[in-house]
Amino acid sequence: MQTEIVLEDCPHCGGDAKFAGLADWPYLSNIVFCPSCLVKGPQAPNYHLAALMWNKRVEAEPVAGDAVAKACPYCAEEVVVEGNNGRGNEPGHEGTLYFTACSSCLGRGPHVPDKDMTVEAWNRRVDG
Ligand SMILES: [Zn+2]
Ligand SMILES: [Zn+2]
Repeated sequence: MQTEIVLEDCPHCGGDAKFAGLADWPYLSNIVFCPSCLVKGPQAPNYHLAALMWNKRVEAEPVAGDAVAKACPYCAEEVVVEGNNGRGNEPGHEGTLYFTACSSCLGRGPHVPDKDMTVEAWNRRVDG
């Protein structure tokens, strides 16, 4: 029997989150995503774990030192990497090629059209 989990809103824009199916995210399954800004949550072996990881939120202050990106909202990992959505043409978000991702849980930040905007979008956090 499937345990029903209420998904938290997107940590970056406050949008409603949903489970991603193949139509939403052809590369991977078992993630939660935000249709508004294309945030993808941590990758997990199944939807139940993906939901638990998505709902887990940590305080994400700017990392000490010279880093400008905040820690990951899901796992507090401080190392983030720039990604490039090779297709960049998800329905309704054509041209939003770039995002910042967590190197630990592989959670992805909002997709934006300009590479210089990824960290700003990643750092944008809404209050619980
Ligand atoms: Zn969002
Ligand atoms: Zn993470």
